[in-house]
Amino acid sequence: MPALIRIAPPEVGKPDTTPPPMEFARRWDSPFDRGDLQPTVAVFLNRLAYFRITAHAESAEVEVGGVLIGQWCEETPGGSQFIVINHMIPARHTRQGAVYLTFTKDTLLDVHDQIENLYPGEKIVGWYHTHPRMGVFLSHYDTFLHNNFFPDPWQVALVVEPFSSVAGFFIRQNDGTLDPTRYFGFYEMDGANGRRSVVHWQNLHKSENEDQGGTPYE
Ligand SMILES: [Zn+2]
Repeated sequence: MPALIRIAPPEVGKPDTTPPPMEFARRWDSPFDRGDLQPTVAVFLNRLAYFRITAHAESAEVEVGGVLIGQWCEETPGGSQFIVINHMIPARHTRQGAVYLTFTKDTLLDVHDQIENLYPGEKIVGWYHTHPRMGVFLSHYDTFLHNNFFPDPWQVALVVEPFSSVAGFFIRQNDGTLDPTRYFGFYEMDGANGRRSVVHWQNLHKSENEDQGGTPYE
């Protein structure tokens, strides 16, 4: 199994140094966001990627998934880290069943090809999958997939339940641990300053800090 993990050469680990795209970003908090957990990265989700993920999630009664493509960034060297999700690529070679999904070697080969052709310079920043008529959590198997195929500390797992329209991001802590039951919200890009939000995930709520553009994210 480990032989299948690193299809591409390992990423040499350096985030891009750039300020977070706070302008027009609207924060969505999960019920766990103001607790004692400190996620390693904040997540910024591009509007088009959100639309494509939800459309894919709602397209099937069975579990579907794919990878999240974008940038891994750091505000200043040694500063807060965040990822920006710009694109998604549905996994075409997954083994799909009613209650499970897994990635195969071909899935990731396909993804690396597409990134090279379509999104040069971007990275796999995580993955998403659906839990039709289940809750938002990571199963033991999901955790196994996450740690084996998406082992970098800043790679995240998004779980979407399309029937009740709930979702959340699973993000590692600074010590590398991952809580499979407590998920986080994200920043909706282009979702503030009078622009209507497009997010309809019912379990997330707008943060009170949303209109303080430029404040450090927490
Ligand atoms: Zn799952």
